[in-house]
Amino acid sequence: MEGDHRREFHASSEAVGSFYDHMGVLFASIFGENIHVGIWDTGDGSSMFAAQTRLTDRLTDLLRLQSGQYLLDVGCGTGRPAMRLAERAQARALGVSISSSQVQSAIAKSRDAGLSAQLEFIHVDAMNLPCESETFDAAWAVEMLFHVPDRLQVLREIHRTLKPGGRVVLAEFVEREQLTGEERDLLTKGFAFSSLLHPGNHGDALSQSGLEVIQAHDVTEQTRPSMSWLQSRYSADRERLADHYGPDFAAQMDQLLPAGLSIYTEKLGYVIAEARRPTR
Ligand code: SAH
Repeated sequence: MEGDHRREFHASSEAVGSFYDHMGVLFASIFGENIHVGIWDTGDGSSMFAAQTRLTDRLTDLLRLQSGQYLLDVGCGTGRPAMRLAERAQARALGVSISSSQVQSAIAKSRDAGLSAQLEFIHVDAMNLPCESETFDAAWAVEMLFHVPDRLQVLREIHRTLKPGGRVVLAEFVEREQLTGEERDLLTKGFAFSSLLHPGNHGDALSQSGLEVIQAHDVTEQTRPSMSWLQSRYSADRERLADHYGPDFAAQMDQLLPAGLSIYTEKLGYVIAEARRPTR
């Protein structure tokens, strides 16, 4: 039933790296330093940053790291989620990203925050990690796996580099309603998507890699306000972004962003999956 849970759209790792290098200024404007959605409470008047931090904290809690333990952050973005985790859980982390500009920025930010002793960031493809087996106490991949050309290979790398019993948390978009070819195309070309799971398919994908599912949480509804936030941030900052990227980019983004956000609202969802490497 491979076609059921692996909906391949195709973007190479290099293309994803260039995408993030190029989109850095846009994403800093609309997402801020966390390149992930937020978890909003009902009637929540808080900011996107507060909602994003709530997601980071929820994921951190699921990992149950002890002080001094070591996290693999697969697809670390600008390093903000790892910095939050380092401060909150007193843990260490290795962040990996396919975007060299993100890695430079993560190194600079963690140094400025006095967290260099706890955090390290490297520019590598998560499909082939330069790490010894059984290195990490835990791992997370936050809004990352839908980008990779081979999701199973990344999960195998997570399995290999985790210590037995080590916990994994995945946070990602899922395909709740079947996408049209046109929608798939837009997500691939506009947002560097490669594949999406259906809401119930984390078990298959994880167990193929040797990992064992603990449970999955559908938090789609709580993430929804993030979409209108992103759109309004873009509208507010459009002129500055047009100055930076040029008018063609802005004209394209005027179409692309609302189209992408409405695909999210109508067809996608958001799942947090907890798993572990079985103990021997
Ligand atoms: N987890 C971060 C960033 C999410 S954006 C956050 O929550 O803020 C997706 C991230 O996945 C980016 O950092 C991107 O560089 C990374 N990524 C995508 N494909 C990758 C690959 N093949 N190897 C390593 N990192 C990858």
